[in-house]
Amino acid sequence: MKDIGVFVEVKDGGVRKVALELLTKANEMGSTVAIALGHGMKEIAEELKPYADKVIIVDNPDLKDYRWDTYTDVLHRVITKYAPAMVFGPSTTTGKDLFPRLAARLKAPIIADAVGIAYEGEDIKVKKPLFGGRIISWIGVKGVPLVTFRPNSFSIEKRDTSGEVIEEDLSVEKDSSLTITASHKDTAKKVDLQEADFIICGGRGMKGPEHFTLLEDIASFMNGRVGASRAVVDNKWREYDDQIGKSGRTVSPKIYIGCGVSGALHHTMGMDTSKTIIAINKDPTAPIFETADYGIVDDLFTVLPLLKEELKKAKEDG
Ligand code: FAD
Repeated sequence: MKDIGVFVEVKDGGVRKVALELLTKANEMGSTVAIALGHGMKEIAEELKPYADKVIIVDNPDLKDYRWDTYTDVLHRVITKYAPAMVFGPSTTTGKDLFPRLAARLKAPIIADAVGIAYEGEDIKVKKPLFGGRIISWIGVKGVPLVTFRPNSFSIEKRDTSGEVIEEDLSVEKDSSLTITASHKDTAKKVDLQEADFIICGGRGMKGPEHFTLLEDIASFMNGRVGASRAVVDNKWREYDDQIGKSGRTVSPKIYIGCGVSGALHHTMGMDTSKTIIAINKDPTAPIFETADYGIVDDLFTVLPLLKEELKKAKEDG
């Protein structure tokens, strides 16, 4: 079995949870090569050792921040050198930007936004939802494919052995027409939307931005995150960063609660792989109930205060 390469996304100086999920899955399938780019990578290398056979580190000040030009170029050279049979990446904002560029550079096929992968005899097939989860496709792959997976598609498990760390000393070519002038981190949102285990999502039925504090309270009891439909973001009740769906983020939490969300296809295609979907909507014919595992047909302004009260009690009782 040849190696499976996994691009390790590093964010705010730490390994993103999705990278450990992808490494765990890759370990089930063969030998693994974790590839991490950045600057000041000693701790990152240590963190990755229990998750891969080989940990390739490219440490360079010019790789401190993600840029499509530097990352595509360096990753291309590392993949060409180590020649893994497949390369996994995250279906995050960075992964969605980087992997198509990498596929073009490598002239390799790419399957984006997958949620599973398995052997069928000697062949490999990749699981990918289509049309808002109405169809689950299994795609057979040939050649050296790149596959991006949604966060929360796999669990995380360390291996018993520690991998070998290899430092690749590579020059970094920058595109001189591109300069990062500033970057801002929203410190108020402690949990990343795509990595959250619990998401409570507000739709137009929330009636206005002031009612989202109810969702914030519930999310904080559950150490989760508030999401929003596009109608909410278009109304400027929440920021785009919260948007779930085709033109927003794709999420796959353990629990998704949709509150006053109708369940339009453009929304459900961003959340249909959530493990448990709960919908609160006063209209029993709302399409969200076709996607939901549990449905509550009621006014959300009746249900949510009760939910908040129960969670508060549960937290106080420890
Ligand atoms: P609505 O469809 O208006 O639904 C509101 C729901 O709230 C209704 O079902 C109503 O019964 C319920 N409700 C009202 N009051 C209450 C109450 N008191 N208690 C309980 N329930 C109540 N949408 C996205 O979400 N994400 C995307 O990324 C996205 N991308 C798109 C891309 C394209 C190209 C296009 C064309 C559209 C996209 N959309 C996206 C828009 C999408 O098609 C829907 O218009 C949108 O999801 C609707 O948002 P909503 O469910 O909040 O609002």
